[in-house]
Amino acid sequence: MIAPFTYQALPMRVVFGAGSLAQLPDEVAALGLTRVLVLCSPEQEDTGKQVADALGDRAAGVLAEARMHVPVEVATRARDLAGELGADGCVAVGGGSAVGLGKAIALEHGLPVIAVPTTYAGSEMTPVWGLTEGGQKRTGRDIRVLPRSVVYDPELTLTLPAQMSATSGMNAIAHAVEGLYAPDATPIVSLMAEEGTRALAAALPAVVADGSDLDARGEAQYGAWLCGAVLAATTMSLHHKLCHTLGGTLDLPHAQTHTVVLPHALAYNQPAAPDAVAALSRALGGVDDPARELWELAGRLGAPRSLAELGMQEADIPRIVELAVANPYANPRPVTQEGVTALLEAAWSGRSPGSPGS
Ligand code: NAD
Repeated sequence: MIAPFTYQALPMRVVFGAGSLAQLPDEVAALGLTRVLVLCSPEQEDTGKQVADALGDRAAGVLAEARMHVPVEVATRARDLAGELGADGCVAVGGGSAVGLGKAIALEHGLPVIAVPTTYAGSEMTPVWGLTEGGQKRTGRDIRVLPRSVVYDPELTLTLPAQMSATSGMNAIAHAVEGLYAPDATPIVSLMAEEGTRALAAALPAVVADGSDLDARGEAQYGAWLCGAVLAATTMSLHHKLCHTLGGTLDLPHAQTHTVVLPHALAYNQPAAPDAVAALSRALGGVDDPARELWELAGRLGAPRSLAELGMQEADIPRIVELAVANPYANPRPVTQEGVTALLEAAWSGRSPGSPGS
């Protein structure tokens, strides 16, 4: 039986395919933009310049200052520069940090953003913005920050190192996993979640084995698109709450933290989410235990599997448990202090989900 649901589609324009960066000038022109500011991280300044060159006269400049979690100082500088240059839009090239900077400008000035993603984080598909000030990250939803067009060119992901590809891809799978058991899950979004997980789980081993495999890169990016769309359409649960708490409190790295926590959070929720388990089993090749399979996949990808190796101290577990349990939020299985403690102990030590002691 299909349970009652409400589904609200978000406007989404996607240009996908190897070489599709060549279509960026047409995307900019179609939005009526004449002077766009190109945003990227310092490490990707060359890519930012490549994009500006492709735009010719329509590029107003390049700001290579995007950083994780969008520090408010960087957002202010970017807004000022956009004003000084008379920019009428932004092109954000890179991962969630560059897209996040574009969203910060859109939030304040309403300038439209075009995203050219080069990781699998998925921010380009969501109306969620974040800004960090004095160590505190504020987030919100606003349709104005949703990119008007997204150009996915797998050629731009060829330089993403194997380890970052693996963890960024697992980060995307985490959106799909939580979308499948979300309180606002809907049949169409669940289709995207299942297919996104399948595509990423199939592609990531090939990407890690050979970073220049353009077909695998394309399949991974296709999966990332779907998983990002799931993140936009559903409410995230225990897994994302834990990762935000670990990132915000202990400054643990974003994608790696998702990679480590995901199998354990899923193992915790599996008994209460049979439909999600069925979908993930199909997506992962007919396995009985998707949580265990994601843990195995992380191992095959050479990705981190313990919070200890990300620098977390065991003594920090109680503090994280307290914060995660303090604010009630949607989760298929009740979130208890005892349950989350066992989950984090297993994730900290790196043992497999469901093994003795977890
Ligand atoms: P990131 O954007 O910080 O990128 C990490 C590093 O990888 C950067 O140095 C970047 O320059 C480099 N890089 C990116 N693509 C590359 C490529 N193809 N080749 C070589 N180097 C490359 O990391 P991320 O994981 O993509 O994004 C994380 C941030 O995004 C976090 O702040 C997170 O909170 C945010 N996020 C937001 C949403 C949302 O919906 N608002 C969704 C997902 C993530």
